[in-house]
Amino acid sequence: MKNDFKNSFSWSFSRYNLFNFCELAYYYHYYGSWSGWDTYAPEQAKNAFRLKQLFSKELWLNIILKKSLLSAINSKSLSNKTLPAQFEHQLHRTLSFDIRSIYSEEWENDPKRICIDELYYNESSINEVVAWIKNKAADKIKILCESRMFYDISRLPYPAFSNTNSPLSFTLDDIQIWCSPDLMWNYQGKINILNLNNGSGWSFLGGLNMLYAKQNRNYKPNSITCHTVFTDKDSCFSVYGIRSPKEIVNIIRDSSKEMQSRLTFDQKAYIENFPKTTELKKCESCRFKGICLTKKI
Ligand code: SF4
Repeated sequence: MKNDFKNSFSWSFSRYNLFNFCELAYYYHYYGSWSGWDTYAPEQAKNAFRLKQLFSKELWLNIILKKSLLSAINSKSLSNKTLPAQFEHQLHRTLSFDIRSIYSEEWENDPKRICIDELYYNESSINEVVAWIKNKAADKIKILCESRMFYDISRLPYPAFSNTNSPLSFTLDDIQIWCSPDLMWNYQGKINILNLNNGSGWSFLGGLNMLYAKQNRNYKPNSITCHTVFTDKDSCFSVYGIRSPKEIVNIIRDSSKEMQSRLTFDQKAYIENFPKTTELKKCESCRFKGICLTKKI
């Protein structure tokens, strides 16, 4: 079957992190899995594509929180009383949908359906994973609903919220740069950008959001506020801060050069040009271990 998409280079924070984690995993994710969604694709590409779609539990939790928050905001005009109730309702719906899919093992026939890495590799049972997400989701929603940030956004008028169809992108030196803010709102001439964060890199992601708002929305830096809410902590606290945009631009430029140097002059990727990590401990948490560790490369 004809492949209509072009696998052209673009930059994202997750791409940069995966390249630093292990170049071979990076190859599987961005090149080896290419066309794996197609029924007629080679078996290796299908396998890599299947593994590329796996989620960690923590990432799953963050996606559910984000989806539910956006649905709650979109589903009703906001008032101080309704947003927490809406949020809880949407979270319950999203979670039930995913849990049903996991119990039915829909991912076996459709790689785009939710599957958690621990289940795929038989490291936990479905019941354990489901119990984990239910407990965590209940904790997080309580923490978020009681937070100051939640109180503030629940008082905003609906039109204050702007397009949150992440990922969004801007360009730098003709390279498309991806960022994925979780929520944006305009208020009193300023733009606020929120990331729900479950790990490291929050200041870098805030800086990317700042660059996006400057370039694509024409805001001056002093009119942009980047918020981070940590969802991996036992209390909800917000940070208003970012890493230096200048420093971020340099990192994007240098790492893009490095990543592109692994391609041939005609932009092709060959597995032998992407060495595996020497830190074998990393393999334990790698999504691609199923196709990598059984292979001699
Ligand atoms: S299993 Fe290990 S060597 Fe293989 S891709 Fe993953 S991290 Fe790299």
